[in-house]
Amino acid sequence: MPERRGLRIGFDVGGTKIAICVLDAAGHSVFKTEAATPRDSYTGFLQAAAALLHQARAAVPDAQGASIGLGIPGEIDVFSNTVKNANSTCLIGENIEIDLERVFGQEVRIANDAQCLIASEVHDGAAQGAAVAFGVILGTGVGGGVAVNGEPWRGSNRLAGEWGHNPFPDRDGEQTGSPCYCGRNNCIETVLSGPALVAAYHDATAGENALLPEIEAMVAAGDPVAREVLSTYIDKLGQALATVVGVLDPEVIVLGGGVSSIGTIYRELPDRVAAHMFHSGSSQPRFRAAS
Ligand SMILES: [Zn+2]
Repeated sequence: MPERRGLRIGFDVGGTKIAICVLDAAGHSVFKTEAATPRDSYTGFLQAAAALLHQARAAVPDAQGASIGLGIPGEIDVFSNTVKNANSTCLIGENIEIDLERVFGQEVRIANDAQCLIASEVHDGAAQGAAVAFGVILGTGVGGGVAVNGEPWRGSNRLAGEWGHNPFPDRDGEQTGSPCYCGRNNCIETVLSGPALVAAYHDATAGENALLPEIEAMVAAGDPVAREVLSTYIDKLGQALATVVGVLDPEVIVLGGGVSSIGTIYRELPDRVAAHMFHSGSSQPRFRAAS
């Protein structure tokens, strides 16, 4: 039987799904489930989160009163305490902390999802022991987080690592990118998100639709078009991460989100990053999948 005391509840709020997990005192998952993210309704989001918590508490009665933390695809503004920079745009401008505490009936802790990712990975995951680590979420949205000496480094405005809405660093001026929900064009997110990879395959095949696991399976089966689409994607990921490596020089870069399950990325990314670096002969960070 898992240890019931010290239970904790975590939400991972993504652009596509909201996942909930109940952890025991040892950090082992004792319950998890997920639901689709209501993309255009803040009320719908609150209701979906409440329904997931209800399921978790029903499945694990001892989780009543357990501490609750959420990773969200955005930031809590340090002055207004409202959400900003969220690809789930219905969250923007809302005081999610107050509203969730009312719905849940207890205190909640909220942080940016990429910062949660790297905080977890340096604690007991793929970046454990790293002096400097960078975590990247390549999902519906794209974001990053920094950890230094085993602790998340959030920065003076909680924005450290927020790199997905910087312009894609395009050396040759060929990347035009798509308009971004943030109001600008050519954000890194528009080039490196899961939907961007799916769209690249769609364009390369003149209209065929394939989900990420299907693209990965086609690559494994030697499909030349899928191979080329993924190769181009990995090169662009290397191009964008070269900027991060040039600033932070991290020991480890951890990838999370839907795209991060594609194993080819880890074999090919080091050389692609090096190709865009000045000191390409120096040692590269280790690239690891989120644990
Ligand atoms: Zn943007």
